[in-house]
Amino acid sequence: MTVKLDEKLEPIFQDVLHRNPGESEFHQAVHEVLETLGPVLVKYPEFADKKIIQRICEPERQIIFRVPWQDDRGEIHINRAFRVEFNSALGPYKGGMRFHPSVYLGIIKFLGFEQIFKNALTGLPIGGGKGGSDFDPKGKSDDEIMRFCQSMMTELYRHLGEYTDVPAGDIGVGGREIGYLFGQYKRITNRYESGVFTGKGLDWGGSRARTEATGYGTVFFTHEMLKARGDSLEGKTVVVSGSGNVAIYAIEKAHELGAKVIACSDSQGMIVHEKGIDLQTLKRIKEVERRRISAYTEFHKDAKYVEDGNIWSVPCDVALPCATQNELNGKDAKMLVENGCVAVAEGANMPTTPEGIIVFQDAKIAYGPGKAANAGGVATSALEMQQNASRDSWTFDYTQKRLEEIMIDIHKNCYETAAEFGAEGNYVLGANINGFLRVAKAMNAMGVI
Ligand code: NAP
Repeated sequence: MTVKLDEKLEPIFQDVLHRNPGESEFHQAVHEVLETLGPVLVKYPEFADKKIIQRICEPERQIIFRVPWQDDRGEIHINRAFRVEFNSALGPYKGGMRFHPSVYLGIIKFLGFEQIFKNALTGLPIGGGKGGSDFDPKGKSDDEIMRFCQSMMTELYRHLGEYTDVPAGDIGVGGREIGYLFGQYKRITNRYESGVFTGKGLDWGGSRARTEATGYGTVFFTHEMLKARGDSLEGKTVVVSGSGNVAIYAIEKAHELGAKVIACSDSQGMIVHEKGIDLQTLKRIKEVERRRISAYTEFHKDAKYVEDGNIWSVPCDVALPCATQNELNGKDAKMLVENGCVAVAEGANMPTTPEGIIVFQDAKIAYGPGKAANAGGVATSALEMQQNASRDSWTFDYTQKRLEEIMIDIHKNCYETAAEFGAEGNYVLGANINGFLRVAKAMNAMGVI
């Protein structure tokens, strides 16, 4: 790791390494938080005495189970699934499910750990958790996806509940998968417990603006960071990695706020379209036809497709990493800064490597970490739970307004916390300390549990 830890925190980190061997993403996520907590222990020594940090680093519960399912030819496959119920000091465990072949316990733990602080930052009553499977939904038929989801829920249902643990989507899990998962939960439990899952369809308990929330929220946060520097998104050129749920709606909101998104990508290549990415084409390819991003050039001959291209080499004013963890390294960060990039906000979770973060911070550009910048998704999930609890359904405009207010608040809290701890403009420190304090105070109040 690149930054040295405070002497009280180093042994805690060594213990995390020792207790969780081989889980490099989890180690990275813990280190990034511990890097900023030194001054907190000076101000709140009781948190050291009560071993709050050690307790936060150990999940309350980790569930690992087998998911057998049959493909369309009758062949049997066995996947592994996880649910890590990390921390429930502020509310029921809340966090998405990821279906991707790279999923293993270390990925789910890094995501669950980040989720604790992110959820705290929203100011809403939600704890942190995360789940997923090494199942690869790419190339599977609808029936195969359904059989997999049903098999997974046949075990998972016993761990969930609207007051216990409330999953949602993430990479590889969108409306279709949530429908199959929720359907099986309803069938097994014989309960129409809407608040047990978020990201549901609008006809069956979902919230308007949930699909858009993470991407929109990331752009609202970017706008606030620029505003704090007397700038705005108007007229800015933007590059967005990924072309999934978060990326698509980040592009939509960036365009609405007067910026021009000129490049986006998927795991195989990138599209550069100097005229501006055409969102209708992108939605058709990705949301309806479920094809590769390369198909974009069939509709726009003036766009360029670069297989395996590095999206961070495209000069831009604003960069929004919205694909996956560690997708932007130190070299990429240098390239962005040298090309004049003034703001980076993370729609994805932990997309920037520790080396990349140092480059952004040294260059003093506006850098919004995922915990803060992509919290709009889970915040709107909590708003979905509120609507479910009151059997209500809010309008799109009202829900979006609430989302925008939450993102403005998160920005303000991170900004003010960073200033309070002598690091004005450092949103990493502001987000980590603000989120940590909310969780730590609740844990302290509840005793040693
Ligand atoms: P998604 O709809 O499945 O889209 C993921 C996008 O990222 C796709 O374009 C995918 O390309 C690309 N991608 C995934 N894995 C990759 C890899 N290993 N290398 C390169 N590209 C890769 O997922 P999403 O919901 O937009 O999530 C994107 C990120 O946002 C994740 O980090 C997730 O944890 C975070 N996030 C999501 C939400 C939410 O509400 N959905 C909330 C907060 C944070 P391919 O299609 O080619 O794989």
